Amino acid sequence: MAGIYIHVPFCASFCTYCGFYSEVLRDSALAGRYVSALCSEASSQRGFFPQGAVIRTVYFGGGTPSLLSPSQFEDICAALAASFDLSAVEEFTVEVNPDDICRSGGRELLKAYRGCGVNRVSVGVQSFHDAHLKWMNRRHDAVEAEKAVELLTGSFGNVSLDLIFGYSGLTDEEWEADIRKAAALGVQHISAYQMSLDAGSMLSKLADKGCYAEPDEDACRRQYFLLQDVLDEEGFVQYEISNFCRPGFHSRHNSAYWAREPYLGLGPGAHSFDGGRRRSWNVSDLRAWLDGAAAEGETLSDADIYNEKVMLGLRTSAGVEATLIGESAKHNLSFDAATGRYSIGRRDMFVSDSIIRDYLKTD
Ligand code: SF4
Repeated sequence: MAGIYIHVPFCASFCTYCGFYSEVLRDSALAGRYVSALCSEASSQRGFFPQGAVIRTVYFGGGTPSLLSPSQFEDICAALAASFDLSAVEEFTVEVNPDDICRSGGRELLKAYRGCGVNRVSVGVQSFHDAHLKWMNRRHDAVEAEKAVELLTGSFGNVSLDLIFGYSGLTDEEWEADIRKAAALGVQHISAYQMSLDAGSMLSKLADKGCYAEPDEDACRRQYFLLQDVLDEEGFVQYEISNFCRPGFHSRHNSAYWAREPYLGLGPGAHSFDGGRRRSWNVSDLRAWLDGAAAEGETLSDADIYNEKVMLGLRTSAGVEATLIGESAKHNLSFDAATGRYSIGRRDMFVSDSIIRDYLKTD
């Protein structure tokens, strides 16, 4: 199993909390140059995958992939199809923002996606409350978010919706309403992230100036437990710290990351992994990438590989094989005798980072 990730480094504006690498798209010529360079990069990487690797997933992430025009999206897909065997692709995901789906031209975008084989969309809703959306500097309001999800569920049988919790001002009642609204809209998958102070984000600058204070850990824990309980009640299964799905609708692409399957990342800032010891990444700077800056990389040691297996495996509810951590298994993991695997208990997922640290090796 193998996957292809395409990083689209453009946003229409920056969200308050976001520290991802992207650029505000002001210049359509720049998007055109990006598409040409991406197509060339796809062709130059045609020999990337080890022999026998079968490409099962394609994922357009960002940034905001839905800022690409239908023809730009189609050009990239044509370049991918010319360079790789995509005949066994099972899951083809595009991340979209609600405002791009609702604006005039949104329907053409969805038509282009379907024509190119997209069978899953991931929509960044974050909240169904206008005051919070405004504070986050999102470009949509709650009505648009709902309309976008309805359009998407009408076009695709597999829709994922992103939500955010754990920020100052979000009450438990509002959070529960967000989760219930998402479930009621008929999506198959929900990713929910706790807001954090990401380096480079506006929010971390506000916090540094004393203009924003994160909610305390008890409030965040309460909202995380609410997330687990409400989604369980609504028929969703938790399969990773932040990811919940209706049975059978887990993200194949992300699950392959956690299982350390090979993937090729194209575009500025995109990471690649050969499935063995080699990780590499493109420069996180659009202009430098356009100018042909070489990718950097590292070769993993045995300890690195062990640590990756622990970190990635324990994020998931499937956990890790007992043989991986063997004797070191401690009180803070659950053991499933039927599968022979250790995993972090449901409620402890909230403190997974500190549990995982207990099992890492230092050189
Ligand atoms: S959250 Fe998404 S849309 Fe907002 S700035 Fe970050 S990448 Fe762009």
